[in-house]
Amino acid sequence: MSKIKIAELFYSIQGEGRYMGVPSVFLRTFGCNFTCDGFGMPRGEQSKERDFIAADIKKFFKYQDLPLVSSGCDSYASWDPRFKDLSPMLTSEAITDRIMEIIPHGKWQDEHLVITGGEPLLGWQRAYPELLDHAKMSGLKEITFETNGTQKLTEEFKEYLVKWQITNHQLNREVTFSVSAKLPASGEKWEEAILPEVVCEYEQVGTAYLKFVVATEQDIADAERAVEEFRTAGFEGHVYLMPVGGVESVYTLNAKNVALAAMKRGWRYSDRLQVPLFKNEWGT
Ligand code: SF4
Repeated sequence: MSKIKIAELFYSIQGEGRYMGVPSVFLRTFGCNFTCDGFGMPRGEQSKERDFIAADIKKFFKYQDLPLVSSGCDSYASWDPRFKDLSPMLTSEAITDRIMEIIPHGKWQDEHLVITGGEPLLGWQRAYPELLDHAKMSGLKEITFETNGTQKLTEEFKEYLVKWQITNHQLNREVTFSVSAKLPASGEKWEEAILPEVVCEYEQVGTAYLKFVVATEQDIADAERAVEEFRTAGFEGHVYLMPVGGVESVYTLNAKNVALAAMKRGWRYSDRLQVPLFKNEWGT
């Protein structure tokens, strides 16, 4: 029986991307290959917010008690090992029991499953088939993997996802990859973050789109360069621009300009509904 280390499992409205506004179960797995300490910082500088929080770790007994941050990765506790004890290892049975408790009718109807992180396509790929094959997941129609686009799908998992979509044909099942490729503003290196050949493979399995988090003209220029690389490699999916910022004060400063920049390039704009609706609190 496989287990998955789960940072958060909650029910909310998807605030971003293709499924914006759709009632969704969020399964946040633990672990990431990046740290993204550059978000919300002057270029070249790194956020230290989570270090201050980690220094006080004994004060926090559950994930939801942790402070929100205005710079760096806003889901830091889903991968930083200093917070690992707040994320339990759960069996498929425990995960599906919890899902049945939090969705409105005790069974899947129009709700969509978001598997997020951290980076959800790290080693957990091997555990998802058992979870998705569980009897309590049989009514599920749509899944989105929110990924940073750096992790190759294993051959086994690719085959599994293709099969998952064609079994139970009447459900019109669909798998989506929401690829938030990390630009230099994140603090990550271009050659490690922009991997078109990895993302093009996602399109062989389901729908994939790119979602760039931007705040400045430089970020938008970086997004243009990245899109060119993805298109050259054959990527066909949509492109979204989304404003940076996990807290409203940062977010409202740049949203309109980001929308205008997206329009100018014929790209899509993604809001972050969880910020104005829920102040980006944990579990939203
Ligand atoms: S890739 Fe995503 S989860 Fe990982 S550190 Fe960056 S923002 Fe956080």
